[in-house]
Amino acid sequence: MTWEQELSTAFRSIEELVKEGFLTEEGVEQASLVSKKYQFLLPRYYASLIDKKDPFCPIRLQAIPQGVEVMTGEGGASDPLQDLKYQPVERITHRYKNRVLLHLTPNCSMYCRFCFRKSLLNELKPDLFSGALEQALKYIEKESEVKEVIFSGGDPLMVREETIKKVLRGIAQISHVKRVRFHTRVPVTFPSRITASLVESLSGTRFKPVVVTHFNHPKEITTESSKAILELKKGTTLLNQSVLLKRVNDSSETLVELSEKLFELGILPYYLHQLDSAQGTQHFYVEVEEGRRIWREMRSELPGYLVPRYVIDIVGDPFKQDVIALD
Ligand code: SF4
Repeated sequence: MTWEQELSTAFRSIEELVKEGFLTEEGVEQASLVSKKYQFLLPRYYASLIDKKDPFCPIRLQAIPQGVEVMTGEGGASDPLQDLKYQPVERITHRYKNRVLLHLTPNCSMYCRFCFRKSLLNELKPDLFSGALEQALKYIEKESEVKEVIFSGGDPLMVREETIKKVLRGIAQISHVKRVRFHTRVPVTFPSRITASLVESLSGTRFKPVVVTHFNHPKEITTESSKAILELKKGTTLLNQSVLLKRVNDSSETLVELSEKLFELGILPYYLHQLDSAQGTQHFYVEVEEGRRIWREMRSELPGYLVPRYVIDIVGDPFKQDVIALD
C-alpha cells in the first residue's frame, strides 16, 4: 500500500469515530460543529494510540475535535503570528532577517487540535500556500541575507517526493542559502510516510537537512515512529520541538520522560513552545508562570543538553524569546 492509499483510509468524519468507539453519542453534536469550522483528519495509526476508555487521553486531546474549539468568547487570533503580514510574496513568510519560511502545502497528515495555523489551514484561507513556487524561489534569490529556508506547516513531508526534489534543487542553486530545515508532525502521526525514497529526496542536494520533529508526548514514541526516525537519521540531523499543552504534557514527569525517550532515538530536544494565542486552541493554554515551574523541575531532573529551550513567539521580535530570560 502506498502512503497515499494508506492516508485514504484515515478518519474524515465524526460519524466514523462514533462507529469505531472513539466518541460517544454525547460528544457527537459538538464535534460535528467543530469539524464544520476546522479541518478534521485522523490517520488510523495515530487513532490506534488513543485509549478509548480515557476521556483525557493525551493522544485523543490532540486529535479529536472538542466543542470547546468553537465556544464563543474564547479569544485568540486567526493568524496569531501574522504570517500574512510578513508575506512578501505568496508561499513565503519572512519574519526573521536571514531565515524564511516556505509553505509548500496546506495539507497535513492529521489536523492537530492545538495548531496555531488552524484557521489558515482551512480551505477558505489558502493565501499562505498557493501561488507559484518559482516566484518564491526568485524572492529567496533576491534576498541575499537569507541563509536558511524553513519548510513549515502545512506539513512539508506530505508533498510528493518529485516536488521536494525539484524545490531543493532550485534552492541549492542559490549560493547564499546555507541550510534547509523541515518542521514536521509526520513521523509522529503518520510514520509510514517516512520511506527510504523520501529521505533520499530530502538529502539529495548539497544541504545537510535538519528535520525538526514535533513529538509532544512519550506515548507518541512507538515501534512505528521509532522506525521512521531510524530512516530519517540516515540522511538528516534531528531535533524535536514540543508545544506545552494543558492536560497533554503540562507536567515535568511527562516532559522528562519525553526528553529521555527522544535521546534514546537520537533526537535532541530543541524547543518547548509556549502556545500561540490562536482561535480554537485556548483550552490548551498553560499559564507562563506554570510553564516556568515545569521547566525548572525538568532542569533539575535532566542534564542541560536534554532540556529544551522554553520559548515564546512575540510578534515583531527578531527571534524567539526565552521565557525563562523574560522572568
Ligand atoms: S501538522 Fe503542524 S501544521 Fe499541520 S495541523 Fe498539526 S501542528 Fe498544524
